[in-house]
Amino acid sequence: MNNATILLLPGDGIGPEVVAELSRVISWFSDKRGITFDITTDDVGGAAYERYGNPLADSTLEVAKQVDAIVMGSVGGPQWDNVERHLRPEAGLLTLRKELDLFANLRPATCRPALASASSLHEELVSGLDILILRELTAGVYFGEPRGTETLDDGRRRAFDTQVYFESEIERLMHVGFELAAKRNSKVHSVEKANVMESGVFWREIATRVGKEYPNITLEHMYADNCAMQLVRQPKQFDVIATDNLFGDILSDCAAMLTGSLGMLPSASLGVEVNGKRAALYEPVHGSAPDIAGQGKANPLATILSFAMCLRFSLDRNDDADLLEAAVDQVLADNIRTVDIAASGVAPVSTSEMGTALLRALDKLNA
Ligand code: NAD
Repeated sequence: MNNATILLLPGDGIGPEVVAELSRVISWFSDKRGITFDITTDDVGGAAYERYGNPLADSTLEVAKQVDAIVMGSVGGPQWDNVERHLRPEAGLLTLRKELDLFANLRPATCRPALASASSLHEELVSGLDILILRELTAGVYFGEPRGTETLDDGRRRAFDTQVYFESEIERLMHVGFELAAKRNSKVHSVEKANVMESGVFWREIATRVGKEYPNITLEHMYADNCAMQLVRQPKQFDVIATDNLFGDILSDCAAMLTGSLGMLPSASLGVEVNGKRAALYEPVHGSAPDIAGQGKANPLATILSFAMCLRFSLDRNDDADLLEAAVDQVLADNIRTVDIAASGVAPVSTSEMGTALLRALDKLNA
């Protein structure tokens, strides 16, 4: 794709700071790699609440539905803690995910070579690590009905949630998993608790059936508790891990920590493909980091790596995605680090200095 429409949502806290560096990167790709970007910038989260009285204005949602991709910074902050729940910054993000039916959440856990020693695991276990956790994002126990708290006739109180999946919800998630694996190392681990949960048995049945459509991909089934253990025991055995909303939430955080800092972790959330186009939201995994907002300390690389995912998954520009990821590896190898990933004995750089270093690396690699 040579022409792309993008909705840029900087959001709150460090969001505008990291997205400012991303904007420089987008301009670089426009100048040097011939991609024409038609960019709309708007507010989301607390910033949108202040401006529109709503964390996601209807007009913003309309644009979100039209563009090729949405790239977001982060939302939230203590100043909105007492706002009604449905108007809180996070509600804007949840509405966006729901309205666009962004059911497939991709969270890569890639250990960038220069940061292998920053992992909490031994370097040899994580060096070269490249896992993709695919989490179902719009169903399962976080949304299942009935849910609630009640008092029984005998006075005992209890709370309950419902884990529920339609066949179609598992099917579409597994298709994404197999398609992703086909472009990677051709292995999918489908993760559930078929040993103790009916929905786990069902998940396994559907995953197996969908797997038959992808004879070149190896499908393995694994219980979620074992998967958690294997992630810290021998993480390089995995390629794509496809799992439900709850297990994906937990396992992706676990896998994320194998790779070092929160400031390095990108994500993508994809919707259903209609006429060759998928709704897509790209955002760093981290939040708005109010503790460092406005201080020029934030690491912009998670947001920039999220844009690399956008180049790969929405714009079909794999070479450009590779180039951007190589530039990130280059600045890290040159020991240019923000404070969250600082190397000992080397002064950390600011958010904008990291952006400048990245543009320099892009120039060099593109020469
Ligand atoms: P957080 O991710 O904002 O911060 C956790 C810690 O990591 C902080 O010490 C922070 O300084 C550091 N950190 C995070 N990103 C960094 C970066 N790019 N560079 C350097 N350091 C970084 O999580 P939190 O403190 O639990 O939440 C703060 C706010 O963010 C809350 O309002 C929360 O609801 C919101 N939040 C939003 C999202 C999102 O927008 N998707 C995700 C998580 C949390």
